Formats: sequence, C-alpha cells, structure tokens
Amino acid sequence: MRYISTRGEAPALGFEDVLLTGLATDGGLYVPESLPHFSLEEIRSWRGLSYSELAFNVMHPFVDDAIPADDFRAMLDETYSVFAHQAVAPLVQLDANEWVMELFRGPTLAFKDFALQLLGRLLDYVLEKRKQHVVIMGATSGDTGSAAIEGCRRCEHVDIFILHPHERVSEVQRRQMTTVKGDNIHNIAVRGNFDDCQRMVKESFGNQSFLGGKTQLAAVNSINWARIMAQIVYYFQASLALGGPDRSMAFSVPTGNFGDIFAGYLAKKMGLPISQLVIATNRNDILHRFMSGNKYEQHQLEHTLSPSMDIMVSSNFERLLFDLHGRDGAAVKLLLENAAKGPVSIEDYRWRHARKLFDSDAVDDKATCDTIREIFDRNEYLLDPHTAIGVKAARNCRRDKTVPMITLGTAHPAKFPDAIAEAGLTVKPELPAHMADLFEREERYTVLDNNIAGVQEFIAQNWKNT
Ligand SMILES: *Cc1c(COP(=O)(O)O)cnc(C)c1O
Repeated sequence: MRYISTRGEAPALGFEDVLLTGLATDGGLYVPESLPHFSLEEIRSWRGLSYSELAFNVMHPFVDDAIPADDFRAMLDETYSVFAHQAVAPLVQLDANEWVMELFRGPTLAFKDFALQLLGRLLDYVLEKRKQHVVIMGATSGDTGSAAIEGCRRCEHVDIFILHPHERVSEVQRRQMTTVKGDNIHNIAVRGNFDDCQRMVKESFGNQSFLGGKTQLAAVNSINWARIMAQIVYYFQASLALGGPDRSMAFSVPTGNFGDIFAGYLAKKMGLPISQLVIATNRNDILHRFMSGNKYEQHQLEHTLSPSMDIMVSSNFERLLFDLHGRDGAAVKLLLENAAKGPVSIEDYRWRHARKLFDSDAVDDKATCDTIREIFDRNEYLLDPHTAIGVKAARNCRRDKTVPMITLGTAHPAKFPDAIAEAGLTVKPELPAHMADLFEREERYTVLDNNIAGVQEFIAQNWKNT
C-alpha cells in the first residue's frame, strides 16, 4: 500500500515510513492511495470473530507486506488483550435502537488506547527491523499524553518525552502519565501553559540538532495515519453486532481533531453500510459551522467541560477535504492557505455531497450536563461529558429511527468527576479495578522552566542511549 499527501507535492511513502512520519514535507497529511473494498458477503463472513481477528481483516490491507501476517496477528492479539472487557468495545443500549459503544475499557480509559496501544507496538516492530531508535516528543493537555505513554511503555527502541503544563492538568490525568513505570518514559511539567508546551514541541521538530544526529523525533499526534487505521475497526465491530452489514448504521462521534469520525467515513468507503455520521462538537464548533453553513472559519478557543474536544481547527478535516475535492492536492493546498487568512467556503455541490452523509451539532456545557443527568435518571448509566455530547447530538440529528444509532463512548466517566458534579449528580464515578490504586502510586516527573533550551538539554541527556 502506498500513501500520498493531501497537498499533492510530497513523495508517496510505504507503510513503514508513514508510521514514522508526521506531516508530509508539503505540509499535508498522508492518506492511502486507494482503499481496500470489502463485499457484503465478505463482511458477513466476519460475524462472530474476536475483536483482534476482525482487526486483522480490516487492517491487513493497509499494512500488507510491511509486517508478515502471523506477526501482525500476534501483535493484534496482544494489543487488544490489555482491554478490561472481553468484547473490547462493548455496546450498551440506551433506548429503542439507540446505543453507546464503550471505547474506554483500555489502560487509560479513553478511546485513544485503541490506536496508541497498537501504534507503540507497530513502531517498536519496525524500529527493531531497521535497527533504529526514535524519541517521541509530544505536548498534552490531558488524554493523549497518558495514552501515548501507556502505548510506549514496553518499547525498546523508543524514548517518550511528554510535556504537560505544570499544575494545569487534572490530578487523574497527571497521575495517569506520571505513575507509569519504565526507564524510557519521561514526563516534563513545564512552568507554562499548554500552548508553550506545544510551541516547544513544534520548534524541536523543526530543528532537531539538539539530538546530535544520534536519534530522531517521531510524532504520535492524531494526524498519524496508523491511529486512524486502528479506529476503523470498531465501526465494523459495532455494525456486525447489530445486524450489519445487512442493515445500515448511524454513528454519532464526539469530535475534536476529526480523527475518530474520519475513520467512520473510511469504514463506509471500504464497504460498510453507514447511512449517517453525526459530527458532535462542543462550543469549539468550527466543524458544525462548516456543515451547517459551508463556512470554514477559526474562532477563539473556548474552555469547556469536554477538554479533549477543545480545538480551534480540526487537523484531520483536511483528509476529508481532499476527497471532497476529487483528491486534487493543489486545490486543498490553496483552500487551506486561504483558510489560514480568513473564512473560506467550498463549491456548493461539494458541500452538498458531504451533507449526504454528515450531520452535525454543537452542544454547550449546559446541554452536556442536562444530558448526563437525564441519562443517569432514566438509565442509571453515567456518561462522561464527551460521550454526553455525542448522545445529545445523536438525538438532535437522527434521521431514521429504524436505523441503529450508535454513539461512540470516548471516555470513562471517572476521568471527569468535575463534570458529573457540575451536572448536579452526587454519585461519584468509580475508577475501574485496574486503576483503583491510582492515587497511591508513586509519581515521577521533572519540573522545568518554560525555556526550550533547558527542555531540549533534558531530552538530549535523558534518552536511553546516551
Ligand atoms: C481525543 C478525544 C476526542 C476527540 O477525538 P478526535 O479524534 O480528535 O476527533 C473525544 N473524546 C475524548 C475523550 C478524547 O480523548
């Protein structure tokens, strides 16, 4: 399988190189040159498979000869055995033909584990083969950092440095990062804010000379193709569990960077009958404004009860724009260059084409709390604020009640106790058994000044081969 850039200028790459690359050299994102397509008959034959068997069938065409089939199967078995539910992605029914798919049974209690548990293993496999080492450097305001650390804890060829803003992440989130054991794991608390952290990461990628040429930086942020690939699988899983592919499904997806929902779009293109995808955003609603009025325009960042969806632009949306423009990289490049300067629109017929599949809704903090309370009152089921946005948007946008509506449950409610309290509930969401002692575990992190030279020196001195 070859991968091409959404801006049409960077060279095509194979799977291994795409795994190790972040942005393409032309500033675009990598996408498969062509997608595998499965017939209904083939998809039907996957009924009853375990999650990891299904994952193999869905993902193998993307990986093809980069990893021998048996090695890939073993890797997937291991990856999905760490999830604390036998079904890996269980479905919970909320109402008639309405479901939540719980994607938060992994080690860090958010759906990002589905991709990052696999990504760590894929990286280590490829680096072992190539006799290479990488330093993963990332900035986090919460979920991504812990999922990336958990995903890399057993990697022999990877050191990971995660920067978080000192005293500005929740205690659960900090502890999920700082209590992970492993001498390749390095947590840096920067005396600054999230933007300072992100700027240091960006600048370090731009000039890697501080590493002395002995290793290189790699990114695990949501633009990494392998993350998208891993997220396609659970759309198939949910559909097969509810009578697919012989009936079509609708999904509602709490969305920030458009990674998770883009995976659903790909599942449809690969042959899975999906009749509707709902983009569920919080007040950071650039995607909702685009879908409702064909205007793509950045607004100020708003802080909400669903912090993992607090974004100004959605990086993976570029991948959809590429398809909407007939895969014309030059057109996408021009559009996004203009979008950096002010509001843009796309041709009406292209926008209408997107609207055939996608609906959208923006849900504010009050409606989020109302939804958490309502579902708890009616079902005794606790939603985290991100998932609550998905459920609310699903109900507002639903086109056809005979089609199963599945909201992706992106995080465990115990990760966001403040939102549950804000919703006026006195029940305390409990951490699952494997995390129950989180507050007793020993933490390890280094506090550094908001100064890039100091951070880079720390990395140069602490990655394992020096
Ligand atoms: C990252 C995240 C999201 C948003 O996912 P995208 O792929 O960026 O759209 C939603 N909910 C939770 C809990 C997350 O951690």
